[in-house]
Amino acid sequence: MTRPLFVARPILPNLEDLKPYLESIWDRRILTNGGVFHGELEKELSRYLGAPTAMLFNNGTIGLMAALRMFNLPPGSEVITTPLTFAATAHAISWNGLIPVFADICPNDLTLDPAAVELAITEKTSAILGVHVYGSVCNLDALEEISNRHHLRLIYDAAHTFGTTVSGRPIGTFGDASVFSFHATKLFHTFEGGMITTNRVEDRETISYLRNFGIKNEEEVVGIGLNGKMNELQAVIGLLTLPLVEAERKSRLALRKKYESFLEDLPGIRLLAAQPGVCNSEQYFPIQIDSKTFGRTRDDIYDGLKKRDIFSRKYFHPICTDFEPYRDFPIHSARPQPFVQEVKSTVLCLPFHSGVDDGDVDEMQDEFLRGF
Ligand SMILES: *Cc1c(COP(=O)(O)O)cnc(C)c1O
Repeated sequence: MTRPLFVARPILPNLEDLKPYLESIWDRRILTNGGVFHGELEKELSRYLGAPTAMLFNNGTIGLMAALRMFNLPPGSEVITTPLTFAATAHAISWNGLIPVFADICPNDLTLDPAAVELAITEKTSAILGVHVYGSVCNLDALEEISNRHHLRLIYDAAHTFGTTVSGRPIGTFGDASVFSFHATKLFHTFEGGMITTNRVEDRETISYLRNFGIKNEEEVVGIGLNGKMNELQAVIGLLTLPLVEAERKSRLALRKKYESFLEDLPGIRLLAAQPGVCNSEQYFPIQIDSKTFGRTRDDIYDGLKKRDIFSRKYFHPICTDFEPYRDFPIHSARPQPFVQEVKSTVLCLPFHSGVDDGDVDEMQDEFLRGF
């Protein structure tokens, strides 16, 4: 039992394995701007994620900003997204001079509710930015149908769905573009990093301009790009971490079963149902605690665990519309009250990684069973 126990713990390769890679970087003295290891990692991830275009970034937020920029959306136009996400999703919209418009989530999978998206559409809407939150996959068919019917771009924040497939189809091949984060808290990471994937090989050129200052060649700058380049050190971490991902995912899957075995039958505890055909990334293990039935609130459990030096997280609480920049923004909903308002005060993510052992699970079970 490790204390403190955190909600996430990054995979780390053996330190000795780093040495030959570092020596090779030192020999070559090419530290960034598309080095050898950058090239290798991009190729491996392209295969792993099954996307024809897969391009590395220095983090997921810059990746999101570039993905929104790819489609020349009209300045000031509206992008519909979910408030139940990390702040970066909404911020990437705002940084592009676009307006985030928030729509409610579905009770069953906590992703964007297509009915709410329809209600949020105006003549100024230019795109939908769905988030596969916690590893839960968006309603892909419905969002695609809506975006086609209204001629909108469809982009996915896939930060929580590394390696996810839907009936065998890789998650990064849906919509116009998907963005992954390789931050230390994600299943696969490069300390900091990210990636844009698309279905179209032609996107490579546009994305490489956006990633590298708009530079075409030594004499031409053809667009307003930014610096989204991943460096060689990050790429090495990625090359050494990628082979460890599947074992980590399997370990989390086993942990999920252990959590489920004691939480499933507790009155007032709701778990996310498995989605048919979805091979889950096992990014997070969120539960919802209905205090009326359970007898204690989400915050009671959070505090109880904290006293034991176990740090769960109230992801995502507060939600984007509680943040200062988006405080007056409405949440479009097909219900009398947005469901997301209920979720934000009931949801809790438990520690979810291979560092959680049976003793930890017993202690958490103990906390949940207090008062029964
Ligand atoms: C982690 C995360 C991001 C941002 O990724 P960074 O790599 O940290 O910039 C974006 N969206 C979601 C949903 C995330 O969880």
